[in-house]
Amino acid sequence: MEASAPSQTECLDAPIIVLGAGAAGLWFSWRAAMGGAQVLLLEKTPRTGTKILASGGTRCNLTTSLDPSQAAELFGTKGSRFLNHAFEVLSPMAVRERFEELGVPTEEAPLDKVFPSSGRARDVRDALEAAARAAGVKIVCNAPAHSIRPDQGDWLVETPLGVGRCQRLVLAVGGRSYQTTGTIGEGYRWLQDLDLELTPTTPALVPMTSDEEWIHDLAGIAWQNGEVRLEDPKGKILGRRRRPLLFTHLGLSGPGAMDLAGQVAAQPAAGMRLMLDFFPDESREGTRTRLIEAAGRKGAPRISRCLPEAMPKRLLSAVSRAALLDGPDPKAQFLDRAARHRLVEALHGLPMNISGTRGFDVAEVTRGGLCLHQLDPFSMQVNSHPGLTVLGELLDLDGPIGGLNFQVAFACAEVAALALPVED
Ligand SMILES: Cc1cc2nc3c(=O)[nH]c(=O)nc-3n(C[C@H](O)[C@H](O)[C@H](O)COP(=O)(O)OP(=O)(O)OC[C@H]3O[C@@H](n4cnc5c(N)ncnc54)[C@H](O)[C@@H]3O)c2cc1C
Repeated sequence: MEASAPSQTECLDAPIIVLGAGAAGLWFSWRAAMGGAQVLLLEKTPRTGTKILASGGTRCNLTTSLDPSQAAELFGTKGSRFLNHAFEVLSPMAVRERFEELGVPTEEAPLDKVFPSSGRARDVRDALEAAARAAGVKIVCNAPAHSIRPDQGDWLVETPLGVGRCQRLVLAVGGRSYQTTGTIGEGYRWLQDLDLELTPTTPALVPMTSDEEWIHDLAGIAWQNGEVRLEDPKGKILGRRRRPLLFTHLGLSGPGAMDLAGQVAAQPAAGMRLMLDFFPDESREGTRTRLIEAAGRKGAPRISRCLPEAMPKRLLSAVSRAALLDGPDPKAQFLDRAARHRLVEALHGLPMNISGTRGFDVAEVTRGGLCLHQLDPFSMQVNSHPGLTVLGELLDLDGPIGGLNFQVAFACAEVAALALPVED
């Protein structure tokens, strides 16, 4: 569904103008119009919901199967306090029900994910756009907002098509990640120009990079059941995730690494390292016992045959090299006590130095943004600027992989729509 380009004579005045037809802007516009509001939705690019289309590997992980409080907790203390109300108003289950009503049934997948049953992100975007249009929202694409400003109790929006005037302005222009989708961070500048407080923005949910040579030999290998810990130069654990990992030619990707990457990007990466535990369900003692038993077994098994789960050859070679073993897959009986100890340590805590992240170009979300204390969590309105609402990635909120970021976009948009004065 491609939206039509505007004519130069388009009227840009409306009671409510929404900037950005992404996840938050589409949801808000639809729900506000359902409540009787007149909404003009301005989108910079030729089409709506580009990030929705790209999301979840074009399958769109549109929410989570976690309950509201579990989902909110994943945003840290401040984030969860702010989101508790929104996730009660529009729980992950309610998001699924709304999409079902729009003709997009959903289903659960591993790691608490929820996808449209069709497996097509396009269905999600199309359903939201169609629902918004059917409710009366006027959508104008190729209409980038260049600036915003308050004016005599209204808000003015400057675009190449003219200046729009509205009583309520809703900013939903997204963050500054994945800039090819149209989000280059203009919204942060506008908020700053209004003297609002912002947390500095950094890339999050992004692959990490490493200069370690051994990593580059492992490109393409996925490890499903590992745990990754992020440590600062002093060895302090900054975070841990038990989720799939993917080695790349530049470093480490997959949900486990990407979930922790926001912390790498937010401070100097020098001296930071990841510790990879390939068998977090087994204790070090358990692995040691396994190797000792194998050493006494008939047939002299190689270490590859003694592990709790088979490891790809290239990965086992890297582990063996790190443990200074004789060869990539020696027989268990040839490991002396010290070698066995080094192997157990490498299997449960293989260190990998980190040089940084791959940055905003490929980050799925932006960390940082409008500090939450300036917003009313019951309306999403900016306390100091009557008539101004801010939604989605512009807020200082980012969650781990698993549908949590769309859940925030939809739930905050729902709260904002419900908080509008009821039209007669
Ligand atoms: C590759 C990728 C995969 C992802 N997968 C998932 C996933 O599976 N699950 C999940 O929960 N999250 C996922 N995310 C994150 C998710 O897409 C975002 O968190 C979410 O889209 C944020 O919603 P938003 O409405 O704030 O911004 P966006 O959806 O980015 O929408 C912002 C809109 O504003 C428009 N815009 C920008 N500037 C202007 C302007 N000046 N004037 C007018 N319009 C403007 C943009 O063109 C865009 O259409 C993914 C992100 C990426 C990049």
